[in-house]
Amino acid sequence: MRYINLFILSFISCFCNAQSDIDRLKLALLNDTPIEEDLQELTDKIGGRVTGSLANEKAVEWGLKKFHEAGVKAWKHSFEMPTLWLENLCEGEVNMDDGFFKIEMVSKFKSPPGYYTGDLVYMESLESEEDLNGKYAIVEQDLCLDIDGLFAEYDYATRVEMIAREKGAKGILFMSSRPKKLLYRFLTMETTDNEMPQWVVAREDAKRIIRLLKEGHSLTISASMEAVTGDAFTSHNVIAEIPGTTRKDEVVIIGAHIDSWALGTGANDNGCNVAMMIDLARQMKALNIQPERTIRLALWNGEEQGYFGSWAYTQDYDMDQHKLAISIDIGSGGILGFFTNGREELVVQIDELLKQVEVFGPFSQLNLPIVGTDNFDFMLEGVPNLVGRHAPQFYGPNYHASSDTYDKVDLKQLKINSAIVGAVVLGYANGDYNLPRHDRFQVDQMINDFYLEFTMRMFNVWEPWVSGERGRKN
Ligand SMILES: [Zn+2]
Repeated sequence: MRYINLFILSFISCFCNAQSDIDRLKLALLNDTPIEEDLQELTDKIGGRVTGSLANEKAVEWGLKKFHEAGVKAWKHSFEMPTLWLENLCEGEVNMDDGFFKIEMVSKFKSPPGYYTGDLVYMESLESEEDLNGKYAIVEQDLCLDIDGLFAEYDYATRVEMIAREKGAKGILFMSSRPKKLLYRFLTMETTDNEMPQWVVAREDAKRIIRLLKEGHSLTISASMEAVTGDAFTSHNVIAEIPGTTRKDEVVIIGAHIDSWALGTGANDNGCNVAMMIDLARQMKALNIQPERTIRLALWNGEEQGYFGSWAYTQDYDMDQHKLAISIDIGSGGILGFFTNGREELVVQIDELLKQVEVFGPFSQLNLPIVGTDNFDFMLEGVPNLVGRHAPQFYGPNYHASSDTYDKVDLKQLKINSAIVGAVVLGYANGDYNLPRHDRFQVDQMINDFYLEFTMRMFNVWEPWVSGERGRKN
């Protein structure tokens, strides 16, 4: 028996010598690594980390230190954030007849600090004709269960906002799309330029308000909001690099954003994938993997406010050198494949690369362009780009919410995801995959083909594309 074991072992070790770098990387990532400890440090110890906060600066230093401790070359890439907004307090109460009740609410990003009071009116639908002028509109929202629900919520909220602005509303109260008083932070359609107070109100409180309004009661809201605000400031991405060998001037970049909203601790969005980036770099270095192309691993910053860190990167580095940009930003649910963002040719390439990890499949690619995370400016620059497509169970319900904490991360799946992502990034860096960078005309055609205008307006990035502020100039 012992003899057989030795024989098997020696066979395995021979086999191991012949193993591909991808196999070695996969095994290392699936084995015991510090990925869980890293994630716990980032979420429990540093916590929620809005860009511009002290916690965010700590997170940047932490990420840089992690790469350096792994012996990986890494640096801070500084860029300008347009505006500072950190909510400290948000309180509300509803007055009815001679009584009142407290409600739980948080502001949407860039709601101006202040004290607000006025009549509440129930805006029943997008078509209904309530007089909103000078009043605070309250609207219902469907429950958000998954990624589709999330995009549907952004879509609906944008349409509500357009109507409320047009009709002269003073502010908007959005019913929380999550039950049990769960609150979360959202952007408005004006994002960093927003000047209208808008809140997410606990689902149960919003339902109570709407029931009373429907019964014909006159209600007024009183709300106070305090925030630290300021002008433009400097923030940092962290960029790590595994240098290439024969094609070192060609770059495959993969990133996850290190900033988060701070109601929770940014665990599924996106601490888990920051920990993945660090572990990928660490294991590549430990195994002395030398890819043909240079692999960069980015911890993007300023993502939640409008992907400012990755946008700045596309301005400051040579996009002609970038052969592929990958974003991992949809939590710790199992990877189902990738969004190929309007580059149909990527589907076959990624299908092929995922064969290396087919035991964790099945996988399929969706050729839909994602607007709303760090692939965006690479897409506008015509660089082929991917976004990881994950099973949504941990992501949707905790999205930007106080419940997005370490305990919601599927740690086992996170390790499997890191092996899947490792196989794709290293496979692409070593493979004979060459897709041309698209010019402005081709990017524009893709935007038209996929009817992206409304979605881009939803995130306040349509005008910057049209004006040439963002994306390829020619
Ligand atoms: Zn995110």
